[in-house]
Amino acid sequence: MSFQSLGLSEALLKAVSKKGYTQPSPIQEKAIPPVLNGRDVLASAQTGTGKTAGFTLPLLHYLSENPKEKFRPIRALILTPTRELAAQVYESVKDYSEFLNIKSAVIFGGVNQKPQVAKLRQGIDVLVATPGRLLDLQNQNLLSIKRVEVFVLDEADRMLDMGFLRDIERVMKLMPEKRQNLMFSATFSKDIRKLANSILNNPVQVEATPENSTVDAISQKVYRVAKTKKTDLIIKLISDGNWKQVLVFTRTKHGANRLTKKMVSAGISAAAIHGNKSQGARTKALAGFKNGSVRVMVATDIAARGLDIPLLPHVVNFELPNISEDYVHRIGRTGRAGADGQALSLVSADETTYLKDIEKLIGESIDVEIVEGFEPDPNASTEPIKPGQNRQPRGRSRNSHQKSAGGQRSNRRNSTRQRSKRNSNNRG
Ligand code: AMP
Repeated sequence: MSFQSLGLSEALLKAVSKKGYTQPSPIQEKAIPPVLNGRDVLASAQTGTGKTAGFTLPLLHYLSENPKEKFRPIRALILTPTRELAAQVYESVKDYSEFLNIKSAVIFGGVNQKPQVAKLRQGIDVLVATPGRLLDLQNQNLLSIKRVEVFVLDEADRMLDMGFLRDIERVMKLMPEKRQNLMFSATFSKDIRKLANSILNNPVQVEATPENSTVDAISQKVYRVAKTKKTDLIIKLISDGNWKQVLVFTRTKHGANRLTKKMVSAGISAAAIHGNKSQGARTKALAGFKNGSVRVMVATDIAARGLDIPLLPHVVNFELPNISEDYVHRIGRTGRAGADGQALSLVSADETTYLKDIEKLIGESIDVEIVEGFEPDPNASTEPIKPGQNRQPRGRSRNSHQKSAGGQRSNRRNSTRQRSKRNSNNRG
């Protein structure tokens, strides 16, 4: 199928071709037609599937084909859970609308609101926002979303994980009842379905890849290793393999910092990205990682969510996530756009249960390797590390519980969900 046959305008086709896309991705093929028809859509798609263009292209088509008065009310609102994702979606909106008379802006917390407000004052058709800053500016009467015609909820599952349910409900009350709604989520729990029912009106359901399945192009491997030897092993793997771009996941922010320091001491350029880092530091780390000056980016799950790093060759789980679905999200960062990827996990005895849960979820067992000199400790306990228990208390900062990913307040988390039971002290 071609982009032409989807019925998108010439200006959009030109922008798509400028991006170098030759054909729509499966989610684009499935989502674009119903969105163009004005239907509500519920899409199962994780990052890396091309979902952003899946909703942005038809949205821009609709807005440009149905122009409104010169004074621009916000006609489309795209809500994302994190600042990074908001910034990335905004970049896509700008790219795809390059040849259209459409204005867009992005707003998120953690930075001065003044430039954002100045931009809004100029009149904006498409607004990309995180919930906190959106409600904040709305409370100050600095923006209005009462003319929104299309509402996109991106990464809805992560929204709920981060405790944004109430904020989403508030946002919905501020928009007109009659509008088109598009909701994207990588996973579909009961809570997500409930949210979908409350937002969407007779939605068309589309799916990019089967839920919770791993992408065939990714080769997965487990290294069984003693916990105390993990750092040396990862440094050896990166050095011996001469890996140039590696995304490493840790479960905690402090773990990310510690590992980054050790990498740097070993002569490997590395940067950490997590919720305690300033927006500037995160943007800088990501830019360095993309342009090759930073070989290793060490990230926590929430910080890494939605990062747009195409063609990532290596993803390493320095620690396995205690939520199995996060494993699927993590390794989904590799093997994007048809490129082969390698996903490796360093697994110590106390992570044995997590590994079993992951294998159950993905429906396959992962090959195991042991590297000489880095053998697992035969006497170590296989008792899992309890979520909430900080394993290396020396690195813990006293006020770490006051912040969570993206600077959002941690007390808004949905406490009823299993995912939110993870170590809230160290999230993001
Ligand atoms: P997303 O899932 O929206 O984060 O997109 C993942 C990556 O795929 C981004 O780098 C996009 O620029 C890229 N992409 C999106 N659509 C296509 C397409 N049709 N062909 C090739 N690459 C694409």
